[in-house]
Amino acid sequence: MSHLLTGVPASPGIAIAKAYRLEMEESIPQREEIEDRAAEMRRLKKAIESAKVDIDRIREQTLERLGPQKAEIFEAHLFLLDDPELTDAALARIDREGVCAEFALYEVAAAIMDALRSMDNEMLRERAADVGDITRRVINKLEGRAHHMFSELNDEVILFAKDLTPSDTAQLNMDYIRGFVTEIGSRTSHSAIMARSLELAAVVGAGSDASQIRTGDTVILDATSGEIIVNPSRSQMEDYSERKRKYEDDVLRMKSYVDRPSVTADEVHVELAGNIGGIEDLEKVLDNGADGIGLFRTEFLYMGRSTFPSEEEQYSVYKHVLEKMNGKRVVIRTLDIGGDKELTYMQLPQEMNPFLGLRAIRLCLDREDLFRTQLRALLRASAHGKLAIMFPMISLLSELREAKRILNEERIRLEQEGVMVASDLEVGMMIETPAAALAADLLAEEVDFFSIGTNDLIQYTMAADRMNESVSYLYQPHHPVILRMVQLVIQAADRHGKWAGMCGEMAGDASAIPLLLGLGLHEFSMSASSVLPARELLSRLSRQEWSRLAAEALNMSSQQEVLDFVNNQLRSEA
Ligand code: PEP
Ligand code: MG
Repeated sequence: MSHLLTGVPASPGIAIAKAYRLEMEESIPQREEIEDRAAEMRRLKKAIESAKVDIDRIREQTLERLGPQKAEIFEAHLFLLDDPELTDAALARIDREGVCAEFALYEVAAAIMDALRSMDNEMLRERAADVGDITRRVINKLEGRAHHMFSELNDEVILFAKDLTPSDTAQLNMDYIRGFVTEIGSRTSHSAIMARSLELAAVVGAGSDASQIRTGDTVILDATSGEIIVNPSRSQMEDYSERKRKYEDDVLRMKSYVDRPSVTADEVHVELAGNIGGIEDLEKVLDNGADGIGLFRTEFLYMGRSTFPSEEEQYSVYKHVLEKMNGKRVVIRTLDIGGDKELTYMQLPQEMNPFLGLRAIRLCLDREDLFRTQLRALLRASAHGKLAIMFPMISLLSELREAKRILNEERIRLEQEGVMVASDLEVGMMIETPAAALAADLLAEEVDFFSIGTNDLIQYTMAADRMNESVSYLYQPHHPVILRMVQLVIQAADRHGKWAGMCGEMAGDASAIPLLLGLGLHEFSMSASSVLPARELLSRLSRQEWSRLAAEALNMSSQQEVLDFVNNQLRSEA
């Protein structure tokens, strides 16, 4: 019997394939006495060798797909598996105490991790997470359980997991993975955002029912509607194969908009830019004919590795992106760590409310050393294209001033060193807090641009955690309250002759674009896959008409009323 589950459509697409379940439960090995100590030691050695082969394969694939920086982490893992402090000590423990290999390795690793975590040296503290990761990999081998190693796949699958971290998502094997479903998460969680940049069908927040789906079940994933059909009937299979074909045809039709300008029916030009998380997303942005990059989330450069990226490393990435974009504007956001984005190698205090805590600019102003390294890399790269630097999560004018002061100090220092910095470099900020939106008129005097981060702005305005699906109904981008905030920001920018863009998910939402156009937004930055549908849509809209309609929407009383109004209007224009 087929059955239906629903979740949040996070990245469009239709996939039909077998399910593959990613087991995340991590049991703690128990102490077990064994008879044959020599055989147990051989068993451990074999598991270590086998883990090494896997890691090496992942290293090579990562090198090919995502470049040398992302591959470095796996080199470090190989190195750790050869460390006698770990492996020899575990073997010695089996030999001495006659305990099973899982327990011996776990105990030795736990002691090493505790010791590393208590060190003063940050580099050493960072190693604890890597020790934990390789230990789990070897224990999984010993227990005959698959590590979540997507490279082991050799057939098309739809992945099912409780949750996926951004680095899990970065490692997905795109040859075989046709889509994924997670039990928790929302449209704006970072795995969802990455799925959109990988153009991978994804449904998130499908709830605990999704945990019943087993590896090998046949699944239809309709990530345009958020539906998951398990063990479908023949007629459902036929129906969805047809829908899949139609969806793929539409995607092809959109491709004809690649070289066209982003212009409305009444000849108003706007900018349609792409959001990226790293060099690997550039190709999609270029393939989809984006007018620039409106958000480079640089935190992904810092993730999935064991040390901070150096100034030199960052410089070469930023330079590469600017050169590839060939004179089109590239907005690079400074480090936005905290909230749901953690660095395993950076020990931050546990917080009750990480999204309200030491994140983004707050963290950078607290850890000036990190901030200065990134700013120097950005300033140096500015000579290679059209760079705009953007600060995230500003709440206060004083935070903006402090960030600009540090930027200016680094600029002067570089110039004194004889390094060229672009004279037309733009400096702007994200509007992600209600405090910033309400103070937009003051802030506009001191920036070149605003970019509205609706993922956070909606979370903070509605006081609804963007990771918590039980309050996800409060994510209401079309709510008049949100539209009013957006209007405030655009008007403040206009009054000061600055430009206002948006790089939150709302900017790529087809039922929000007409309203944003009507409110006068200048730049829309979105996942690469949304650029062409947005360009096609804009070509049918009149800005003049939508300014009138948006003014009406501002006075409505609910998101539903606004949505009905927009959809009726779009239908009558079609
Ligand atoms: C936002 O908050 O809208 C945004 C673009 O930033 P992020 O999603 O990376 O928090
Ligand atoms: Mg944000």
